[in-house]
Amino acid sequence: MEQDLRTAIKTRALALHYQPLFTIQDQKILGFEALLRWRHAERGYISPTEFIPLAEETGMIFGLGEWVLEQACADALAWGGGRKIAVNLSSIQFRDPNLPATIGAIIKRSGLPADRLELEVNAGVLIEDTDAVMGMLVEIRALGVRISMDDFGTGFSSLSSLKRFPFDKIKIGRAFVSQLLADNEDGVTVKAILALGHSMGMVASAEGVESAEQFDYLHLEGCDEAQGFLLGRPMPFEYALALCNVPDVTGSEQQISTLDGH
Ligand code: C2E
Ligand code: MG
Ligand code: MG
Ligand code: MG
Repeated sequence: MEQDLRTAIKTRALALHYQPLFTIQDQKILGFEALLRWRHAERGYISPTEFIPLAEETGMIFGLGEWVLEQACADALAWGGGRKIAVNLSSIQFRDPNLPATIGAIIKRSGLPADRLELEVNAGVLIEDTDAVMGMLVEIRALGVRISMDDFGTGFSSLSSLKRFPFDKIKIGRAFVSQLLADNEDGVTVKAILALGHSMGMVASAEGVESAEQFDYLHLEGCDEAQGFLLGRPMPFEYALALCNVPDVTGSEQQISTLDGH
């Protein structure tokens, strides 16, 4: 698989798909999250959960991460409209002290205004070399880029990780959102995360919204943004571009979600 992945990177068999991010209040597309896909000749699209760990173990993540950022910035420039692009960073990328400079150079070359870029990191990043990572996050933020805490509530995330760095956005992990109405305790947890995020001046976003009931609950509780199969699946660039040109997206959701190239 390692050799296959090397070849895939070389032959550009990797592609970025884009999942729309919606504002909850007025249900508008505020941007897209770039999600890596491997177009495998026999196996179809392979999920990043299968090959990102391999890229991390082998060091391929450094080159791959740069390619993702370049491609995502170029694509975001193409769909215009001030829409944001969210790009995931691996905690391994923070082992390269040049990461902030690299990100700065890519943004500059791309011509994308830095405030249209959001970088998503998960709490795992903060358990590595905390001081070094902190310094890098500050440098990256100084470029004008926003930084989101991804998958909050899962893995290594903790309250202290939120306190240590002033994240711009907190993304509530899918594990909580999916159980929202089935499990009352998750409702309590989501409310608490929303209160915490807002009191710390962060935008709150919910991942993995799959039902109208979940969406309504989040709306009622004052969550700012939502992302999930209910609203739109990750889709190839061309579909994302087309979606940007649909004047009123609400109402065409059903149609859009069947366009999934996944
Ligand atoms: P993530 O950043 O938390 O991305 C959200 C994941 O949830 C995506 O999985 C997306 O397809 C999935 N998702 C979105 N809405 C729903 C929903 O309503 N229901 C369900 N069941 N799933 C939903 P995906 O694309 O398989 O990516 C998995 C993870 O791989 C990402 O989690 C991210 O951590 C990582 N990843 C993806 N692309 C990249 C990349 O370019 N670089 C790095 N370093 N990591 C990436
Ligand atoms: Mg993410
Ligand atoms: Mg993640
Ligand atoms: Mg996430």
